[in-house]
Amino acid sequence: MTTKSVELVASPREPHFVGDGFRVHNFIPSGFRLDMERMDPFIMLDYNSKFKFAPSARPKGVGVHPHRGFETVTIAYQGKVEHHDSSGGGGVISEGDVQWMTAASGVLHKEFHEKEWSKEGGDFQMVQLWVNLPAKDKMSKPKYQAIENASIAKVPLVNKGGEIEVIAGEYKGVKGTATTFTPINMLNVKLNQGAKAEFEMPASYNTGLLVIEGSILVNGTTKGPTNHFVLMANDGEQFTIEATDDAIVLVLGGEPINEPIAAHGPFVMNTREEIVQAFEDFNKGKFGFLED
Ligand code: MN
Repeated sequence: MTTKSVELVASPREPHFVGDGFRVHNFIPSGFRLDMERMDPFIMLDYNSKFKFAPSARPKGVGVHPHRGFETVTIAYQGKVEHHDSSGGGGVISEGDVQWMTAASGVLHKEFHEKEWSKEGGDFQMVQLWVNLPAKDKMSKPKYQAIENASIAKVPLVNKGGEIEVIAGEYKGVKGTATTFTPINMLNVKLNQGAKAEFEMPASYNTGLLVIEGSILVNGTTKGPTNHFVLMANDGEQFTIEATDDAIVLVLGGEPINEPIAAHGPFVMNTREEIVQAFEDFNKGKFGFLED
């Protein structure tokens, strides 16, 4: 097996607000070279780095909006988010939990800070990812996976070096909790200072590391500072992450779907015609109903 080398280390872009509740750095698709085709099947990555929200009687967030053609995955590191969609899915996720919504043929949803959390305010830190669906599944039935931290498979590292939460895919034979449409590894890696972990992915998998906390050394040489995204090359299968201080790293690896991408706002399909259709269906109320 050969080493998967580092292709680039991307620093966080200037943050912007999504609605009034998410202050995010966008890495995919607008980061340098991190476009949808390069990162396929990861077509969007917004990172709300740690940010303190003041107490608010009215929960902040994003009101009702549609999605079609992909999945949204929200990973909560700090704070609480309440989520509702027109297929009946929803719930509250808090520190360590993951919500995996398959929009597929179309849902309306809304995402807000949880009511009680909002009244207190505090540090808020989340990742939202969009995972593309293959053409054959884009118009399948919407579904929702609420994944509480307690249900996420965990692999302890030797010498109390930390642990790896297997959100999806597998790590050293341990299977992830979420079900996915295409092969994906999504790992939340928690390393104590000085600890090191090895990873294996096929060379073809588009792979990246988001440094959530602390700082790391990749393959023993490349520095990954907090809030940076390390893009791995498609030249090998193995890489290592070493924590230079206590670190949390979101490791993403996915087999590219390799189909044409037509994206417009909240819709990601394969052709322009399908995007036009999505707008028509949305305007005709075919995405269902969700109260504001
Ligand atoms: Mn959304």
